[in-house]
Amino acid sequence: MKTIGLLGGMSWESTQTYYRLLNEGVKARLGGLHSAKLILYSVDFAEIEALQHQGNWPGTASILSRAARSLEDAGADFLVIGTNTMHKVAPEIEQAIRIPLLHIADATAGVLKRDGVSSVGLLGTRFTMEQDFYRERLENAGIRVIVPNVPERELIHRVIYEELCQGSINQASKQAYLEIVTTLAGRGADAVILGCTEIGLLIQQTDTPVALYDTTEIHAAQAVEKALDT
Ligand code: GLU
Repeated sequence: MKTIGLLGGMSWESTQTYYRLLNEGVKARLGGLHSAKLILYSVDFAEIEALQHQGNWPGTASILSRAARSLEDAGADFLVIGTNTMHKVAPEIEQAIRIPLLHIADATAGVLKRDGVSSVGLLGTRFTMEQDFYRERLENAGIRVIVPNVPERELIHRVIYEELCQGSINQASKQAYLEIVTTLAGRGADAVILGCTEIGLLIQQTDTPVALYDTTEIHAAQAVEKALDT
């Protein structure tokens, strides 16, 4: 089994989910007492969040590159960055290490293509919904991406940072997210990507008839495959 290097803490609320899913995935494949070999580097998210909102992406790249190198030096065979947003600096992080990166948008695009989804709604931070680094990856795979409108994006972004990343699950926010999911389907989305690793804490497939693709689940499942790939 390969050793997974998990760059987490963004936020730790979703890193807990990764940790559970990686272990459950290995146990499901190997049974018994088997669990994932992994090394976790968990950052202080307040530092990252401040740099993000100042637009200081090079600052985030330097913190995360150093963390990724530590994971490599500690024996990780490949890297998993447990956040969609910080894949904005994935190219810089990749340059700092020799081990491969399992990119969350590529993992998600692969599952969408497998399922024949060609038009998808995208929920995530404003950075993920509005900038090119994530959407382009999906579009290059031939998938049409529909993003929520400006007030919807503001609400989604605010709930991520002020509630979900702080462990707060709010029923009114859940209803608001579900209405946005329905609107995206009405605008032509065949499915909706939960493109922020905390959104699965708020809405799940049982809440809506619209197909949801949870990036945390997809990313963790692919990491398990890669770890057990012989
Ligand atoms: N975990 C979130 C994501 O998947 C947001 C936190 C962050 O900005 O990294 O994008």
